[in-house]
Amino acid sequence: MEEERIVSAERHSEDDPQLEVGLRPRTLNEYVGQEKIKEKLSIYIRAALDRNESLDHVLLYGPPGLGKTTLAHIIANELGVSIRVTAGPAIERPGDLAAILTNLGHGDVLFIDEIHRLNRTVEEILYPAMEDNALDIIIGKGPGARSLRLDLPPFTLIGATVRAGLLTSPLRDRFGIVDRLEFYSPEELEKIINRSANILNVKAEKDGAAVIACASRSTPRVANRLLKRVRDYAQVKADNIITRSVAEEALQMLQLDQKGLDEIDRRLLMALIEKFEGGPVGLDTLAACISEEPETLEDVYEPYLMQLGLLKRTARGRMVTNEVYSYLQLKPGSTNAQQKLWE
Ligand code: ADP
Repeated sequence: MEEERIVSAERHSEDDPQLEVGLRPRTLNEYVGQEKIKEKLSIYIRAALDRNESLDHVLLYGPPGLGKTTLAHIIANELGVSIRVTAGPAIERPGDLAAILTNLGHGDVLFIDEIHRLNRTVEEILYPAMEDNALDIIIGKGPGARSLRLDLPPFTLIGATVRAGLLTSPLRDRFGIVDRLEFYSPEELEKIINRSANILNVKAEKDGAAVIACASRSTPRVANRLLKRVRDYAQVKADNIITRSVAEEALQMLQLDQKGLDEIDRRLLMALIEKFEGGPVGLDTLAACISEEPETLEDVYEPYLMQLGLLKRTARGRMVTNEVYSYLQLKPGSTNAQQKLWE
């Protein structure tokens, strides 16, 4: 897809990094939702601080935009250490990772986003680093080559990925703390929207924030992005106040429905209904129908549609649920686009 979707949970090239940092909560208290993870982390952080040790390595997984990077920054902040941020695809050679590791300070956090995309030779450097705080380097070539072990300061690796299963098992096994981030409830998203509206200096009425929350696909990044677009609309059309009707009109302008589904979601569901009589159909075939990579379909599009109860994964393939017909205002079993009333 060339054009970036307003509701995609992934970071957009047009997202202003300054603004994203400005909206990021800085402490566990400010971080909305994910109560179980927060409770566990606050205990582990407290215990590590009391023992004067570094925190165990942490693996955070879940769909994009749910707050993994934010949580990594918060952990470093709560530990009172520095954080070094990088991403799996950015570390090309073992030497790149060795340079990063040797530059870490005592107890620092190293955050690796998309950690499942590290290549194998780089990943192997991580094993002794995570387990023994050691860096094994080979000096020389051929028969004269020898291996040298360097000590590293204690550090905490925080890895982020969409699915834990994407990691190799030797890497996954080296994380002491493994947690999945959950989708956010509309109430939690409302809180996030109100907090962000305050920072962005725009007034959001309760009903207005609720409309945005409902269309945010259970994802804070989408909530913040929609808020910014609705803010533009409110500024130009409505005295800078986000009321219910202002939010609804702005969503309409963005071609989103009340649950935040866009044209691509509707196309995907309609393809399943019209071309495959509701399914089941294989992932690859469905992905080809909407000109997307199977992995993107699986990790980016499907989780929210499944969460809404519109799509299900079965052993035989993807299927729409009965709810989809009323959601799209189609007659059940419909295979005819003419019956589509929603537009
Ligand atoms: P991920 O790393 O999972 O893709 P990020 O940590 O970059 O997601 O979060 C995206 C944006 O959503 C952040 O800029 C932050 O402002 C906001 N955000 C995420 N989680 C929360 C939360 N629990 N409370 C408040 N804001 C959040």
